[in-house]
Amino acid sequence: MNVHEYQAKALLRDFGVPVPEGDVASSAAEAREIAQRLGGKVVVKAQIHAGGRGKGTLRTPGGETVRHPAEDRPLGGVALVDSAPTAEEVAGAMLGNTLVTKQTGAEGREVRCVLIEQGVGIAREFYLALLLDRAIKAPTFIASAEGGTEIEEVAAERPEAIVKVPVDARVGYSPWIGRKLAFGLGLGKAHVSAMNKLAAAMYEAFLSRDASLLEINPLIETDDGRIVALDAKMNFDDNAMYRRPQIAEMRDLGEEDPLEVEAGKYGLNYIKLDGTVGCMVNGAGLAMGTMDIIKHHGGSPANFLDVGGGATAEMVTNAFQILLGDEHVKAVLINIFGGIMRCDVVAEGVVSAAKKVGVSVPVVVRLEGTNVERGREILESSGLEFLVADGMRDAAEKVVAAAGGN
Ligand code: ADP
Ligand code: MG
Repeated sequence: MNVHEYQAKALLRDFGVPVPEGDVASSAAEAREIAQRLGGKVVVKAQIHAGGRGKGTLRTPGGETVRHPAEDRPLGGVALVDSAPTAEEVAGAMLGNTLVTKQTGAEGREVRCVLIEQGVGIAREFYLALLLDRAIKAPTFIASAEGGTEIEEVAAERPEAIVKVPVDARVGYSPWIGRKLAFGLGLGKAHVSAMNKLAAAMYEAFLSRDASLLEINPLIETDDGRIVALDAKMNFDDNAMYRRPQIAEMRDLGEEDPLEVEAGKYGLNYIKLDGTVGCMVNGAGLAMGTMDIIKHHGGSPANFLDVGGGATAEMVTNAFQILLGDEHVKAVLINIFGGIMRCDVVAEGVVSAAKKVGVSVPVVVRLEGTNVERGREILESSGLEFLVADGMRDAAEKVVAAAGGN
């Protein structure tokens, strides 16, 4: 689960990570009030679940480029302004418009709230993150003196410019870590103590809230020598949310794909993709295999969908509805292996779902396993036009052809 920058910063502030003063606004008037309260220079920052906002471009719902209200240039997702009235204008120009960044894809994201925070004088920018390194099974700090730029680029071009410091979870945080990070970033002795406090606070926040990523890009040295987190991104482990209600509450469904949100309500594991073949499969392994074989035969899957080993007729109906809710779906492949679940039960579920939902695209069905003969009979005698496939390859060929070929 992702959260907004303002939420991550509020959380980090509670743990003692230095962040600029600021507050979130969902209207231009609110933005002005916050700017007035903060006084002086403030930064207006579009809150979307994607980075690259500083270099992003805003456009209106009609597709026009949004101009900066006070300067002669296009407006991005991060703007430094020197008065509350300008903060109000800039916030007004961001809210309700769409921000396109390197991370959003061409469709962009609607800006529904903005963070108004103190403008800070920057001397140097760094990159600092804490994440779970699965290869060495340890929470690991990643630091680079090349802040602001994308860490992936640094990693690809100059891997030696990245410092990695794993934390032994049995020992926990130790002061040598902050020291190593401070020197790794070229900060020097004067900053070791500040770096230590900050890294210890990050570790505590990360561990105690079941985070999987905490990224500060940039971490800065201010022009008066302080170390401050200027941006913050946090991801949390979905499987831990049952025990982290305060974090789960921060979820912003408006930032998630509506079909994925809908699928989540029914307990379906659904991830939307950009192909044309809708897939309904039981079991994650078979779902992966199905996507592969569709690709192999020149098609492209519209989704990953695992209805689970114990899918009921009701779940099959819900899954159908979600698949057909995606306008890019040109054909559906139902690929079920009847193990614990019997094929005749699945077939009945599919038939009743198809009748209820009213299927408008070709549906290929491949059933295998317990009671498969009975299952096929049910499909064939249903009066509905299913394309019954014999095996994975036949299913893939049929569905790719039905979706319009490769
Ligand atoms: P993103 O990563 O989405 O582009 P950031 O929060 O990193 O957004 O902001 C982009 C840039 O804007 C930063 O690298 C920094 O130079 C500047 N910036 C962000 N917040 C502030 C602030 N409070 N004061 C001054 N400059 C800021
Ligand atoms: Mg950033």
